[in-house]
Amino acid sequence: MAKDEKKLTTGFGMPVDNDLNSMTAGPKGPVLVQDVHLIEKLAHFDRERIPERVVHAKGAGAHGYFEVTRDISMYTRAKFLSKPGKRTEVFLRFSTVGGEKGSADSERDPRGFAVKFYTEEGNYDMVGNNTPVFFIRDPLKFPDFIHTQKRNPATNLKDPDMFWDFLSLTPESIHQVTILFSDRGTPKGFRNMNGYSSHTYMWYNEKGEYHWIKFHFKTEQGIQNFTGQEADRMRGIDPDVATRDLHQAIARGEFPAWRVEVQIMTPEQAKNYKFDPFDITKVWPHADFPPLAIGRMVLDRNPENYFAEVEQAAFSPGNFVPGIGPSPDKMLQGRLFSYHDTHRHRLGPNYHLLPVNAPKAAPMASYQRDGAMRFDNNGGGGPNYWPNSFGGPTPVPGTGIPPIDVAGAAARHAYVLGDVDFVQAGALYRKVMTDMDREHLVGNIVGHLGGAKKAIQLRQTALFFKADPEYGERVAKGLGLNVDEVKKLAAMSQEERVKATQV
Ligand code: NDP
Repeated sequence: MAKDEKKLTTGFGMPVDNDLNSMTAGPKGPVLVQDVHLIEKLAHFDRERIPERVVHAKGAGAHGYFEVTRDISMYTRAKFLSKPGKRTEVFLRFSTVGGEKGSADSERDPRGFAVKFYTEEGNYDMVGNNTPVFFIRDPLKFPDFIHTQKRNPATNLKDPDMFWDFLSLTPESIHQVTILFSDRGTPKGFRNMNGYSSHTYMWYNEKGEYHWIKFHFKTEQGIQNFTGQEADRMRGIDPDVATRDLHQAIARGEFPAWRVEVQIMTPEQAKNYKFDPFDITKVWPHADFPPLAIGRMVLDRNPENYFAEVEQAAFSPGNFVPGIGPSPDKMLQGRLFSYHDTHRHRLGPNYHLLPVNAPKAAPMASYQRDGAMRFDNNGGGGPNYWPNSFGGPTPVPGTGIPPIDVAGAAARHAYVLGDVDFVQAGALYRKVMTDMDREHLVGNIVGHLGGAKKAIQLRQTALFFKADPEYGERVAKGLGLNVDEVKKLAAMSQEERVKATQV
């Protein structure tokens, strides 16, 4: 054996004498149960798979750093944001949303953009997407929405009827649908897209003064998208195109970077703004809330082991540090619960101890004990309850979020569906998109919605018409629908429209 060659052992360190031949009774078998090495090897293999994420199953990740470029200490007490030049280690996971773990990277889908900042006050996770808005604004609708993006329960096929039935019954989705069916719904790779917190968060300073903020991560590589046809082709040519592109760029030393910006709103502005600023189906217009560049994020190191670092990475919008807190955004409130919960299911109750998830720059000291796979010293001999008189960790008063006023009856309050829900989808179509963007948008919608039943096509096309008459007319013509019928449906209330378009 060469001097620095490693010895093969069992999982328990015993040297393995032979890894090619099972132990058998005679040269032709049968195999003996006393071959514990064989049994251990098969049994571990049988258990290699963990549950895949119910959403964001296909992903890629990389390590890097975030550097502050502006003094923002008047807005937030977060130490990692305390002064220009300060650097914090990060891990970022990109993903698609609806597809399975082996699905193609070029599918039309939002992309996940989840950043873990390993700060000296604990890990802060910004769990965003490559779109600034979302389809729905109440977490009670989330499981239903995701079911429609998955497979038909009978056929196990993707189903345009399910997809468009739900969206056409959920008009607040129109803004996100318009972004998704533009070429931004099929980014060329993870390096060539922006990331957005989408949600609003609270920033608070040492004095307890707070503001509402939204994060934007602007790609320095430039936005680059596939057309619908290119994305379809790429599914066959290279289903892992975005994963490969990220890994190879970092391996070549071309480190992708993003300019980090925030939009800031005072509590008074939030009270008086023309729409609910916590409604995740809407953006804050740049003209009203100009983005402020505050930092730069660079990815400069590939993971050494995909499963250990990417598959086991667990992000939660509920991981805050002093200086950053939640807003009343209802979707965010649902996610604050759901992310930790899904990781407990997927990885076990001690998932926070896994190296990629554990705080790296801050000590961890809690009264949580035991549970499956508790692989640190489990608090040693220290006290396991609070309050105690034996020197256990003590709470740090004054670091929590400042109080905010809330009022109103406890009830299932519906958002009032109004014309304001169509304004930003219309503005995107009319003011932001180029002629080519609009052409691709309409073509992409026609190609997908064309697979749904006619009543659903009519109901959905009426929503495009409400966003912008030209937008609706072009989709109607592309689908061969009667434009006057679409116009009539667009003039109705959602309730009347649904009655008039029974499947
Ligand atoms: P602005 O003209 O100030 O901003 C427009 C934004 O749209 C830019 O940030 C641009 O991002 C982005 N954009 C360009 N093309 C597309 C596309 N095909 N799909 C999605 N986004 C695109 O306008 P407003 O702030 O008044 O917003 C107008 C509309 O722009 C909104 O209704 C919304 O649909 C969209 N938008 C707004 C954002 C915001 O935070 N205000 C963020 C992203 C989109 P880039 O600079 O990267 O090209």
